[in-house]
Amino acid sequence: MSRKSIQRDAILQVIKNTTSHPGVDWIYDEVRKEIPNISLGTVYRNLRLLAQAGEIRELDIPGSAKRFDGDTSNHRHLICEKCGRIFDLYEAVDPKIEARIFQKTGFKVKRQYLKLIGLCSDCQKQEEQLKTYIYDNSLIKGGEK
Ligand SMILES: [Zn+2]
Ligand SMILES: [Zn+2]
Repeated sequence: MSRKSIQRDAILQVIKNTTSHPGVDWIYDEVRKEIPNISLGTVYRNLRLLAQAGEIRELDIPGSAKRFDGDTSNHRHLICEKCGRIFDLYEAVDPKIEARIFQKTGFKVKRQYLKLIGLCSDCQKQEEQLKTYIYDNSLIKGGEK
């Protein structure tokens, strides 16, 4: 294998071996464990090439840096707006919507690369705890009157 393909392969493996949809910085850190002298520019260049070749997916996240997905199968993303984690959803959001889109516009949907922005269950729990905490405090204050 040439040096170039060794670099590209190492980057590809790093992305394929995680489900965390990492950003460039994380990928760079991981690849350097195998190829310590690789440059950030090389990582960027290879990410672009791999995405163009369809070996990885590039994810545009609103308000955040690009993330990468080693899973190129047809799936959707649930993005937590609080902790920034990205979860995979292997389920069509609503198969009927594709028929509706076709009826209305004549457009035939082949793949859904949909992003759903929200709160993950961990962050919801945290928000609940915070609410309970504020609620309890207000009770204590109310009791002081
Ligand atoms: Zn979260
Ligand atoms: Zn994914």
